[in-house]
Amino acid sequence: MTGDDNYYTGEVDIISGASMKNVPNILWLEEIRKEDIISVGGKGASLGEMASLGLPVPRAFVVTAQAFRRFLVEADLEEKIFSSFEKLDVEDNAALEKAADNAKELVMMAKMPAIIKEEIKKAYKKMSAEDLIVAVRSSATAEDLPDASFAGQQETYLNIKGEANLLTSVQMCWASLYGARAIYYRAKQGFDDHTVNIAVVVQQLVHSEKAGVMFTSHPITGESNTIIEGSWGLGEAVVSGSVSPDKYVFDQRTEKVIDTLISNKKVEIIADGEHGTKLVDVSPARQDAQVLSDAEVAKLGMYGKIAENHYGIPQDVEWGIVKGTIYILQSRPITTIGAKKENKSMSGPKSEAKILLKGQGAAPGIASGKVVVIRDVKDTGSVREGDILVTKMTNPDMVPAMRKVAAIITDEGGMTCHAAIVSRELGTPAIVGTKTATKVLTNGQLITVDGEKGFIYEGLLPQAAAPVQGAAPQRLVAGHSSIITATSVKVNVSIPEAAARAAATGADGVGLLRIEHLILGLNKTPGWFIANNKEDEFIKELHDGIRIVMDAFPGKPVWVRTLDAPTDEFRNMQGGESEPHEHNPMLGWRGIRRDLQSPDQFRMQVEAFKRLWKEGYDNLGIMFPMVSHPDQFLAAKEMMRACGVDVENVTLGIMIEIPSSAIMIEEFLKCGIKFASFGTNDLVQYTLAIDRNNENVADMYQPQHPAVLHLIHTAIQMCRAYNVECSICGQAGSDPKMATWLVEHGISSISANIDAIVKIREAVARTEKRIILEAARSKDAE
Ligand code: PEP
Ligand code: MG
Repeated sequence: MTGDDNYYTGEVDIISGASMKNVPNILWLEEIRKEDIISVGGKGASLGEMASLGLPVPRAFVVTAQAFRRFLVEADLEEKIFSSFEKLDVEDNAALEKAADNAKELVMMAKMPAIIKEEIKKAYKKMSAEDLIVAVRSSATAEDLPDASFAGQQETYLNIKGEANLLTSVQMCWASLYGARAIYYRAKQGFDDHTVNIAVVVQQLVHSEKAGVMFTSHPITGESNTIIEGSWGLGEAVVSGSVSPDKYVFDQRTEKVIDTLISNKKVEIIADGEHGTKLVDVSPARQDAQVLSDAEVAKLGMYGKIAENHYGIPQDVEWGIVKGTIYILQSRPITTIGAKKENKSMSGPKSEAKILLKGQGAAPGIASGKVVVIRDVKDTGSVREGDILVTKMTNPDMVPAMRKVAAIITDEGGMTCHAAIVSRELGTPAIVGTKTATKVLTNGQLITVDGEKGFIYEGLLPQAAAPVQGAAPQRLVAGHSSIITATSVKVNVSIPEAAARAAATGADGVGLLRIEHLILGLNKTPGWFIANNKEDEFIKELHDGIRIVMDAFPGKPVWVRTLDAPTDEFRNMQGGESEPHEHNPMLGWRGIRRDLQSPDQFRMQVEAFKRLWKEGYDNLGIMFPMVSHPDQFLAAKEMMRACGVDVENVTLGIMIEIPSSAIMIEEFLKCGIKFASFGTNDLVQYTLAIDRNNENVADMYQPQHPAVLHLIHTAIQMCRAYNVECSICGQAGSDPKMATWLVEHGISSISANIDAIVKIREAVARTEKRIILEAARSKDAE
């Protein structure tokens, strides 16, 4: 830190502790080093560190934590604010809100000391002669614990222009230190409010024309290949997964671009006037155009290497380009959902925390937030970023809201219901089958959700991850593709936006792509598209969605399953009024039996597959669901042939999810199926007569029931005899114990959920090694 002309010159030494003395009110990025974290917070220190390496970071200065303290003292606020917190019971929501409002108002009404005001104005002018549009971001820090991970609890203001707005925004950031959520966290974490400070980063806002992310080394293997993903507009589109970005691989040893994959980029996020952003369609001409030139890839790769060398570990870098100038916006170590959530779960909320409710832990992770009870999909507009969504059962029209929330809780459902499947793919903690959450939990209530254990705790517990406002969600799940298994470990995908996360696991392919989630997301039934002469639209949507997943798994098998949605899931959609009311939709008109009776619906799907095969996606395999007799397989194959598919030369297989198909597996094999995959979610319910979505019988739902295992064992042996790949894509395949059993019984591949890949790969590898070791030992003993 070398600041010179802007030292505080007040009479009183208001800062406690030596580290806080004589620190300027303003520090420029170039002056900041990581040791200054106590003055500039984590955000400021990391930006400063990057600037000091010569990386092209957008211009910025920091209004230091000390400036904030000086303000508190000069405005005589310390006593007024802190005394109101002394007797505060933070569990009393109303009192907490009142104390927070009071403190924030005191900060907003107080006058900023003239010297600080002048220094901020001077620095702002120094950034640019004209009023620059800036982002004003809080960067909180505690004196005794500089990196106190207060991320997301204080505010960020984007698109700020002009001195007056800037000064107000700085003061608003200061006030946000006393938001109810922030006070609650500090109280729970045992921080003394007296020692908590806030710095404010004022940074040039980059309206990127193209942007994206970069992993400086391969996130899974650690190879020195830099992977860059880029798309049009602001980087948020790539980070949030709303677009399938171009992908570039840059070899750091040869300094050459070794792979370029151009995607169809349908949408971009751009600035909306001076405030906010909006999602718009990319013009057709730019959709398939290459975003980055080789020179830009090489330059980005070089910046990535500088960051990685400096920090000593691979970095996850966000970048943007405006008028040919590259900006590095953020760099942090590559972290993983898997590691993060496992760590959190291991520490878990403390045992003294009060459990409000229990259910089935359906998607791992711990999160805290405010309850928002949704009784009707029309009300999802009230769901805010970081809330906890509580509802009877999610359905496809709720997916946009599910993307925003910190956790999801449902009354109904089991491990294989809509909420469970989608939450796991979104990486959002979820608890299903609580029976009473919508009755017991109330709007605005603060709770913590443990999606692993299935416990809902009262209050915001410190172990939970604070949702990081405006920051990139974690994108990757750690994989260990250095572990090679003879049994392929594949991944299940249901929503195209999860494709990148799924691919980052290093999985050996996709063992199940459920297209119904993609179709249900269109909010119109296939019948509606047919009745309204919009078949092409349906085919295009289906084709594009599948292609996003195929592009994430180049050269690896991707098994796409034909439509399998029970009639009740279609009912709320446009066209849903024509759906029959079935007494038991699970046993009803779904899967291949419906497609065989609805040739138009089947044909539309086949058209989408045909386009993909024509485009060279030979790795696409098609899997028929709910097949109960070989005649159904043959009929489906004939229908495909009639649609012009060269059926003998494409990969067609079946799901084994009805006991009859396990029992008759040899007949299926004789009919030429190329693979079979156990859909245990259904196989269990049809073998044991247990409704998979009924929380009242959830404890009787046993994938490892001897009868289920018997069916699986018999079918595996028969597939082996015919040398046909035998797999599993039901939820049971995500259980390491079951995976171990399956490997012991000779399964050829296992397709698991994204969050389970690491543990399944380990279980598979361990079992394979044990089998080899035991064989070697018994040979020795002979
Ligand atoms: C299954 O039944 O195991 C399966 C994977 O299919 P779904 O969960 O979509 O019914
Ligand atoms: Mg099924």
